[in-house]
Amino acid sequence: MKRIGVIGFPLKQSLSPAFQQAALDHLGIDARYEAWETPAERLAEVVKELRVPDCFGANVTIPYKEAVIPLLDNVDELSQQVGAVNTIVNRDGELHGYNTDVSGFLQALKEDAGFDPARRRALVLGAGGAARAVVLALIRQGATAVTIINRTYARSTALVDDLSPYGSTSLHALPHAYASLAAALLGCHLLVNCTSVGMTGMADVKASPLPPDLIPSNALVFDLVYSPPQTKLMAAAKKRGAQVLGGLPMLVYQGAASFEMWTGQAAPLDVMRKSALKALRLATVKGSR
Ligand code: NAP
Repeated sequence: MKRIGVIGFPLKQSLSPAFQQAALDHLGIDARYEAWETPAERLAEVVKELRVPDCFGANVTIPYKEAVIPLLDNVDELSQQVGAVNTIVNRDGELHGYNTDVSGFLQALKEDAGFDPARRRALVLGAGGAARAVVLALIRQGATAVTIINRTYARSTALVDDLSPYGSTSLHALPHAYASLAAALLGCHLLVNCTSVGMTGMADVKASPLPPDLIPSNALVFDLVYSPPQTKLMAAAKKRGAQVLGGLPMLVYQGAASFEMWTGQAAPLDVMRKSALKALRLATVKGSR
């Protein structure tokens, strides 16, 4: 039996074991997908263990998407540009790093929201690994301008400096303040929440990363947070009449792209989507008890 897993800390909220295992079982692939909750001091050891012949590889999640890079033999160009790896593939004992958040985000944007970012303006909240993948995706699709607003200003200016060379999209960082949010939302077609504000398990689960009165009614509001299924931001955006997309489709698409790299087989998207939704509902019910 082959093994695959997700490396992160903590992993209580992860839906990947449920929907990846469902896909493996559906295709009759003799493999187990496990949650490998890993404290920082064990990261190098856990990554080294991926080199054994019975291991396909792993997913990498918060907080190790950047920290795993020096532990790998090869990192593709896209992951180097993002500065983060979320998929590791073991090829004959060599570890190769990829980033499927970029394609997962674009697939969700296009297939689930019918939104083409070419020649559009966007506001991205946050400047962590997910924000970097989202901004690079928007650059590659020819967005006109992307403003980045993050609690820690230095992180958003670093993101602008790092990613500006990869296209002609105009990137700006603004301070985390009501006035900058209001200014950035003028003529904005897409708002993407790449912060963990509103996520289950965080102290600010009941908070919104944007004051409700600023939510634009004529833009697409895409919250990358997938648990809870409807965040406070999403509920407020719906109330304002905006088009809304949650993080679950992207989660499934990025996982499906990883699955195809490990197994060489087309991912059964419907099976993955249904089991991710089932696991999320179960976790939501358990959490509300
Ligand atoms: P990360 O690298 O840890 O970044 C977290 C971001 O959230 C940072 O910009 C941080 O700001 C900001 N933040 C945290 N608490 C905040 C608060 N109280 N107020 C304002 N900003 C706050 O994490 P990540 O990998 O980018 O992930 C971010 C979110 O995206 C998570 O919820 C994750 O689950 C989600 N995500 C979803 C998918 C998907 O497939 N749907 C994929 C990737 C990530 P500072 O820089 O100031 O700390």
